[in-house]
Amino acid sequence: MILSLTSKVRPATDLGFLLHKNPANTHRAELSFGAATVFYSEVSEEKCTACLLLEISPVELVRGARQLEDYVNDRPYVASSYMSVAIGRVFGTALAGNCAKRPELVDLKMPLTARLPVVRARGPELLTRIFEPLGYVVTAEPIPLDETNPAWGLSPYFRLTLETTATVHDVLSHLYVLLPVIDEEKHYFIGADEVAKLLRHGEGWLATHPERELIVKRYLRRSASLVSQALEQFEGESNTEKELERPITLHTERVSIVGERLRALGAKSVIDLGCGEGKLLRRLLADRAFDRVAGMDVSHRSLELAAERLRLDRMNDRQRERIQLFQGSLLYRDKRLEGFDAAALVEVIEHMDVPRLAAMERVVFEFARPRHVLVTTPNKEYNVLFPALPPDRMRHNDHRFEWTRAEFATWADRTATRFGYRVTVEPLGPLHETHGAPSQLAVFSL
Ligand code: SAH
Repeated sequence: MILSLTSKVRPATDLGFLLHKNPANTHRAELSFGAATVFYSEVSEEKCTACLLLEISPVELVRGARQLEDYVNDRPYVASSYMSVAIGRVFGTALAGNCAKRPELVDLKMPLTARLPVVRARGPELLTRIFEPLGYVVTAEPIPLDETNPAWGLSPYFRLTLETTATVHDVLSHLYVLLPVIDEEKHYFIGADEVAKLLRHGEGWLATHPERELIVKRYLRRSASLVSQALEQFEGESNTEKELERPITLHTERVSIVGERLRALGAKSVIDLGCGEGKLLRRLLADRAFDRVAGMDVSHRSLELAAERLRLDRMNDRQRERIQLFQGSLLYRDKRLEGFDAAALVEVIEHMDVPRLAAMERVVFEFARPRHVLVTTPNKEYNVLFPALPPDRMRHNDHRFEWTRAEFATWADRTATRFGYRVTVEPLGPLHETHGAPSQLAVFSL
């Protein structure tokens, strides 16, 4: 049973830091059911592949066997809950999202390919249903029962390739949770701590997964009480931002206010930085006041959704010339961000780690340097008005921070001064007399 993970981002050998496994060595770990070996099948600046090979001990395989077919089974070859446990053991640090030597790599989304030469699934549909919503391009090639006897037809096994742009931590978490889901044969007892594990490793993606219920049920092997326990937790989680804000559709209001302001500022060309699924882009394109609109995001998947939402493929040429979408990161200077009248960062900064903000500030205010920059972020003081939001929780799993009005104003003033902009900060959304508005907007101008 083998899992490989390939990175092609220079220097690809950074994968070694992220996995805490030096590419120059072979690493072996003894597990209760067998041995795991990590080795690198290719190591260069351009391409690096780490392999996790799992050999299950014969003793383990016949444990509990009562009849002949119990002794002859596919367990040694098929990716399964054994692989999931091995990931937890040998890549535990990476799975927890830690990287002591190069902490800046942990949140880096990079093109990654995971390969599993053999997985068992009833059909390729399940594989697509569970991996695609997470942004993977899924290739599941059916393996014939016997290559020399095509007439025997196909086996229930697939060669699975998963390609994505994500952090190593995300990919490991997805595999950790989803391999047992595909296989459904858990080799160990499912106890209450499995719910905790599922919640921990599913954080940030499982709550909003369209197949959440199927995943939870299969992961917990349909234990009714555990399944309901897990699903209840998720209700709370996914409710927070969406449900809380639903009655007033705050986000729609936010986007329309930002659109109005950009128009009032006389901006003809606008770049939406961290455009997500393209809500603001749609608003801007619908308005002839804007000649040129661009959307940039670090997430491929979001850009795909934006392209769909904007119906890019069905746009006439004149519209098509007004819009441009591209992948990039706010942390790196990028020529493509230059030459716009205005830039918008709508609910983006709180998705970045505080120590990274300085890099973003230079990229936007020093290098791209548009005449106007509009930045919005949640107002933390307003959170007490969301009854479903427990104290000390943020509105979204991926938020790295949420600022009070004073904190945002301080950041805005400091940034404006440093880069020679003027700034005004204002509430965004319905105003509460003590807690302010749900969100806040800073308008920077040169
Ligand atoms: N502006 C959109 C999306 C907000 S969610 C809206 O209002 O609907 C935050 C977005 O920021 C996500 O799409 C995320 O992929 C993007 N993002 C986070 N860090 C980024 C970075 N370093 N560079 C570019 N985009 C980033």
